[in-house]
Amino acid sequence: MSAPLAVAPWPSTSGTKITAVRTFLTAPQGSPYLIVRVETDQPGLYGLGCASDPQRTLAVKSVVDDYLGPMVLGRDPGDIEDLHRLLLNSGYWRGGSIAGNALAGVDVALWDLKAKAAGVPLYSLLGGRVREAADAYTHVDGASASEIAEGVEAAAEKGFRHVRVQVSVPGTDTYGTGGTDPELAHARNARWDSLAYLHHVPGVLREVRSKIPAGLELLHDAHERLTPAQALRLLPMLAEVDLFFLEDVLAPEDADYFPQLRNSSSIPLAMGELFHDVKQFLPLLRDRAIDFARIRIPTLGGLTPVRKLVAACELAGVLIAPHGPGDVSPLGHAANLALDVSSPAFGVQEAATLREGTLEVFPGTPVPERGALRPSAAPGLGVDFDEAAAAKYPPPEPGVHDRWALLRAADGSAQRP
Ligand code: MG
Repeated sequence: MSAPLAVAPWPSTSGTKITAVRTFLTAPQGSPYLIVRVETDQPGLYGLGCASDPQRTLAVKSVVDDYLGPMVLGRDPGDIEDLHRLLLNSGYWRGGSIAGNALAGVDVALWDLKAKAAGVPLYSLLGGRVREAADAYTHVDGASASEIAEGVEAAAEKGFRHVRVQVSVPGTDTYGTGGTDPELAHARNARWDSLAYLHHVPGVLREVRSKIPAGLELLHDAHERLTPAQALRLLPMLAEVDLFFLEDVLAPEDADYFPQLRNSSSIPLAMGELFHDVKQFLPLLRDRAIDFARIRIPTLGGLTPVRKLVAACELAGVLIAPHGPGDVSPLGHAANLALDVSSPAFGVQEAATLREGTLEVFPGTPVPERGALRPSAAPGLGVDFDEAAAAKYPPPEPGVHDRWALLRAADGSAQRP
């Protein structure tokens, strides 16, 4: 009779053991960041990951501190796939954004750690580079076509070739507009009117297109606020805007309508930043119903599942456009960038305008240059975490970032954010 096969934990091949999994809360960007640090018994060797869910921060922190962290103590950090499956399966009821963010924080830290131990940038572990840098898009908003066109041209002067444009709609709280303090905007006017949006925004976007130089790519985010019927109305109204992509024209709950949208219009469609399971993308890839997959690594459970999704996108002919707003920490941005430069399926990368404090807390943060982001050549993610600097930016009280819950539809009913 043959000997039974050994089960994990197998004898370590690296001689490295996980000694601690620590979490840190900081908010240099305003939005709370939850940072995970996986520490080892090797001097100076640790990995960092982003587990930032701004609306459920403390719940995610508890999942890491009380459940996931203790499970990996003593394990060899190099067995990432096994550790990922162990942590995923440890919750009998798997999935959801809280579990996904917690898992992603540990998972990305393990990938960072593995690349640091090998002395190579993270993209080297994902197959190496297929491009040197990733084209990035920035955000511009305004109340009039002239104001927005000026913003687009200012972005173009900085080198951006892709700009997401959002239009204020009179009398409503429009996503992505309202100046530099979104909390003020929400407190001022937390009403949303889809019909006012449909009547106002397409005309302004057409005018913006007529005012800006040829060759600049425009993107727009409907932010899941339309019904399927309204989305079908919107597409022909935007035909002359020549969008690079239209994002989140439907909510995840209505994703089954994407094939209808695809068949009714040639406007490139982007979807997925709200998905919390990579398998939610599969019907859309199978049906070729979207053109860009909006991937949020923290919500989706980390690089272990996401690298498989990116491979599926490549096989389906769908491009990736990872989610990169200010509520993703620089560690998350660096993880995005490792995918961007290593995948043939790369489309475009969302870039946030990060504050000085954020750059201070996260040394090595990639920032756009001439409209593109370049990954660091340093081992791992190439972004570090300064614990002392982070302590200067305590997170807001829970609830402050639940401002989405204030939004109401024109008839007073609760509205999706
Ligand atoms: Mg979006």
